[in-house]
Amino acid sequence: MTSASDVPRPVPLGTWPTPLEPMPRLAQALGLGADDLWIKRDDLTGTGGGGNKIRKLEWLCGAALAEGATHLVTTGAPQSNHARLTAAAGARLGLETALVLAGSPGGAAQGNLALDALFGATVVWAGDVHGQALTAAAEEVTARLRADGAVPALIPFGGSSALGARGYVTCGRELLTQAPDVDTVVVALGSGGTMAGLVDPLGPERVLGVHCGAVPDPATTVSAFVSDLSGTPHAPGSLRLRLDQVGEGYGVLTGPVMAAMNLTARTEGIVLDPVYTGRAMAGLIAAVEDGDIAPGRRTVFLHTGGLPGLFGHTAAVEAAVSDLGTRSRTL
Ligand SMILES: *Cc1c(COP(=O)(O)O)cnc(C)c1O
Repeated sequence: MTSASDVPRPVPLGTWPTPLEPMPRLAQALGLGADDLWIKRDDLTGTGGGGNKIRKLEWLCGAALAEGATHLVTTGAPQSNHARLTAAAGARLGLETALVLAGSPGGAAQGNLALDALFGATVVWAGDVHGQALTAAAEEVTARLRADGAVPALIPFGGSSALGARGYVTCGRELLTQAPDVDTVVVALGSGGTMAGLVDPLGPERVLGVHCGAVPDPATTVSAFVSDLSGTPHAPGSLRLRLDQVGEGYGVLTGPVMAAMNLTARTEGIVLDPVYTGRAMAGLIAAVEDGDIAPGRRTVFLHTGGLPGLFGHTAAVEAAVSDLGTRSRTL
């Protein structure tokens, strides 16, 4: 039996709906029609500098508040956008935030980490651990907080769970009111909740996920969230995935990613990040090249945010600035 108070409810954190804008100059640069390519601006979701995690956090923080939480605890890489936005959500809701980050102290505090500090989060360095071991470290932090009398809410890696993914069910429905004729939505696939949420209202054939190397088994990961959301088993084989943009691994800059960042910035004035949205755009460009995305149909690029991460990514900043060298002179 569920009562009305058991039904999870989102807490407002974002600014909705996010805009859907045309990208005519990028479309034409890629050989598409000027009206074929659009961008859904989920980089402009509001709180904490924006990004896709805000839609998930509305649901996850709603559940945390319903449980009487005093603290948010989550995990991530040192340049995690999700950790930054969890810290911002905590600040906005009057909750303490503890970030359990892979790595050790002493690195340059830039990009997302500088913003984590501004939002007043506590950072617990977990050492060189990933996946299950990082989650175990977060569980240990949660247990210690509980022993001290706090009420911690553990927010899953990347905000991805069936509950967090509901934020992208909402986004998919929002997009269908803005562009009912959408043929393909291109999205970066990290921890998988964003793609899974979109598949629910749009169907697997209209969502193209570009794997960024954040999880070992992207199809199974996304499929499990889709199953949880719908309550019926989902076949991983029906998902549209591109696995060709991972390069040397999660976060490592590739030539196609830098080229996609440059082209998008120079044709539309839109900044992408080297870890997620740059990979997603490189995947979109590859899909146009091999005909998976064709002229005459409406393609929407979902901009999931990540701008602060660019300033925490030394290789991408250096690549951008060294390119400037070729166009600089002194008077
Ligand atoms: C987390 C993140 C993604 C990936 O979303 P998932 O739901 O984890 O797959 C994409 N883009 C940016 C900028 C992100 O921070």
